[in-house]
Amino acid sequence: MPSARHILIVNSRSVHQPVFVVGAPHSGADLIGRALKASAGFHLTLGQPSVLRTVYAFARRPSMHAGRAQAAATVIRDAFAQGWRVTSHSCLECTRECRAAAGLGEGAAGPCVELRGLETFGDASPDLIYCAEALTYAFPDARIVQVVRDGRDVVAAMLADPVVMSWFRPSFVNVDTEFPNPFFGIESEEDREIWPRLSPAGRCALRWRWSVRLAARLHHSLPPGQLKTIRYEHLMSKPDDQLAELSRFAGTTVQAAGIRAEARVSRHRSRGRRSPAWEMSLSAEDLAEIEKISGEELRRLGYLP
Ligand SMILES: [Zn+2]
Repeated sequence: MPSARHILIVNSRSVHQPVFVVGAPHSGADLIGRALKASAGFHLTLGQPSVLRTVYAFARRPSMHAGRAQAAATVIRDAFAQGWRVTSHSCLECTRECRAAAGLGEGAAGPCVELRGLETFGDASPDLIYCAEALTYAFPDARIVQVVRDGRDVVAAMLADPVVMSWFRPSFVNVDTEFPNPFFGIESEEDREIWPRLSPAGRCALRWRWSVRLAARLHHSLPPGQLKTIRYEHLMSKPDDQLAELSRFAGTTVQAAGIRAEARVSRHRSRGRRSPAWEMSLSAEDLAEIEKISGEELRRLGYLP
């Protein structure tokens, strides 16, 4: 059930239908976040410290918030009230990606957005997906953009990303103390039992599978006007169609240059080869494990026959 309506005021503007972009790591959520950030009237943040702190508290210690929806919603609204505030130094502590997407140089101070004409607040911080359900509670009128991509491509990209892989360091893994554990995709006793024996590809596949199951839950709980699901593959093959739909959903003309450029590169790459990208980097054993763990989800989404 949505919570009672709270009015969040930031820079003397009330936050109305904020837009949040979520997806598994390397599913393209960052690409859409950057495009929205560059769109007129949008103030979208990508890794404000107050938001990241909250996101990782939810990701690491989900048990702390379980069954305390009201308290969690307050924590989230407070984090965004701070993160969205526009001051002369507002993007200074943001992630490098946020500053770059705002066109700010390495050491440049200054807000990443013009206050004038600012209509819509949003966020596409990394790993925001781990508070997606709490977000819809904290902001009952929130609009969620979720990005879904072939799990085999996601796993291949995760395996090549040292930051993502560093979450699997023994000192960081908390699958024994936190259960269920969305961050590691562990939902059942069986998942917890097989986890120690899984290969890195299998562990990444579990994380992807959780994101897809969450996508299905959001699809059932949110009205169509509040949820837009985008397939990364469609975004790359038909960027203009997808951008038009995203623009309608977000109520702005989404800045297209970054996505079009990425789609061109992706088309160019796929023209030069006969087999899918993941085939280059995943071993037969990796693929077998990915399909064992997430075959049902891959089939449901049409990525596997
Ligand atoms: Zn920023």
